[in-house]
Order: sequence, then C-alpha cells, then structure tokens
Amino acid sequence: MFNPIFGPLKSRRFGWSLGIDVSGQAKQCNFDCLYCELVAKKPQEHMQDILAPTLILNALKSALDKLESPLDVCTTTANGEPTLYPYLKDLIVGMQGLIPKGVQTLILSNGSRFGVSEVQEALVHYDIVKFSLDAIWPKVFSRIDRPHKDLSLAKILEGVLDFAPKYGGFLVAEVLLVAGVNDNPAHIKDLADFLRQVPNLRRIDLSTIDRPPAHQAKPLEPAKLQELMAHFQGLPLSLPKRVLEQTQVPSSKEAFLELLRCRPLSVEEARCYLSARQLQELQEMGALQTKQVGQIHFYYHP
Ligand code: SF4
Repeated sequence: MFNPIFGPLKSRRFGWSLGIDVSGQAKQCNFDCLYCELVAKKPQEHMQDILAPTLILNALKSALDKLESPLDVCTTTANGEPTLYPYLKDLIVGMQGLIPKGVQTLILSNGSRFGVSEVQEALVHYDIVKFSLDAIWPKVFSRIDRPHKDLSLAKILEGVLDFAPKYGGFLVAEVLLVAGVNDNPAHIKDLADFLRQVPNLRRIDLSTIDRPPAHQAKPLEPAKLQELMAHFQGLPLSLPKRVLEQTQVPSSKEAFLELLRCRPLSVEEARCYLSARQLQELQEMGALQTKQVGQIHFYYHP
C-alpha cells in the first residue's frame, strides 16, 4: 500500500524534514517543467487520483510515533503540485494537531494557484510557504515550466501578489535557473523587480539543476550564477551550495560591508569572504547584525 510519508531527509535550507506526499504514486502536476526530477507527463488542471486526508494523517501519526531522530519541518510536497490536492486545508489543520511543538509546517508549491481562495485558506495555516518563480516573461514561462494550456502567467503573478499580504508566516521564493532558457540578464532583472514588489517575502533561494532532469536542460555555471546575483540587490538571497563552495573571494572588511549594504548574506556565504573571527569583530563593533530566516542565519547591515 502507498505510504505518503517519507524521510526524514536533511535539507540545507530547512533542516531535517519529514515529507508528506499528497499526490500518490503517479505524478499529478499542472506544469511539466524542463528541469523536473519526476517523469515527464502532460500537465493536468485537477488531481484525478485523490488520497483521503485520513489516510495521510494516519500515516503521519504513525511515522511521528516511531520517529527517533530530530525533526525541523513537516513538508507537504507532491509527486506533482500539492495545491491541486482538494483537501489541503483539512490536511494542514489535521497536521497541526499531530506535529510536535517546535516542528514547523512547510509546503513546496509551484505558486500557480496562489490566487485561488480555497488554496489561500489552506496556505495561511502553514508556518513556511515556498513557491517557485522561474519566469516573468510569458515566452520564457512556456519554455521552462511547460504549464497546462489554461494557465496564464499574468494570473499567477496576480495570485502571488494577492496572497502575500494575507500571509503572516515565512514566505520564500525559489528561482531555478536553466542555462540558455531563463538566464537572460534582462529577464532576471525583471524577475527580481517583481519579487521586490511581493510583500513579506523573507528569502529567495536561487538554484540551478543539480539532479538529472526529465527533459534536456543544463545547469548554470557558478560564475554565471554569481553574475546574475547582482540583480537581486537588497533582497535576502540564499545561494546554492555549489556556488558557495566555489566562492573564494579574498576580501577586506570594508569590501565585505560594501557587499552587505547591497544585500543580506547568509552566514555560510559570509564565511566565503571573511573569517569567523573577522565577522565576530564586525558584529562586536555593531557593523552587522544577524537574523534567522527559516533555518538560515543571515548577516544584515544595521
Ligand atoms: S512544478 Fe514541480 S512537480 Fe511539477 S513539473 Fe515542475 S518541478 Fe515537476
């Protein structure tokens, strides 16, 4: 019998995560992204195979009862898009009664249904909502996300802007870059400008392909990714591990503070520029402050 619970798995950005898959065995998604790690499949507007919420909640309770390792988040995800699940609100409300204190609820969505009122009613119950935004130009959107024919990018963007001010939790956006598809600097500039308008956006996870995708798609080189980062000036950006590992820029404290004025830096990224001791000295001087966003600590210019 299908078990909708998997993990816990360690995620760099959210910590130890227990996954809750609401779409069952077959992929059910309204996108068919170029970079999807699941099998390629024609997008669908609605879920056809629907798991009963009680089945998912019973499986979650049983997994939590047996759990011996630490846990940071319970993640609603899907072998597809979780906001297509028609009982999402019942599920999250039921989950809240089962999840131990201190463990947060997280949902990973493609953001395509944030304007739908029933979806909003469910999302507001999550501690962390993460949505993908890979494109801001319709042609790029069609090419990278390969959406269901009735989905409009303009409506999706409207939905994000409608939902964000109603949401009081951690709102995180993910931008996944595919070489030669959505990495045009003018496109990224427009995309970052849109994200600047999203109220309450707490973090932007910039990433590229790191597992074999469903279609022909190539990752961006770390150097190109670093170049594009400039467009996210002032926004709380979290970079992929591969880029961080290759960012070994010797820096003075002055140059580092200059960079920090442009955008907050995660502690992990800041260590690519200065030693732990230098960072501590700057903190003691009051030249920088820290703030936790999800599982990631950021340095901010005060
Ligand atoms: S939204 Fe997610 S599940 Fe759906 S096709 Fe894209 S990557 Fe795959």
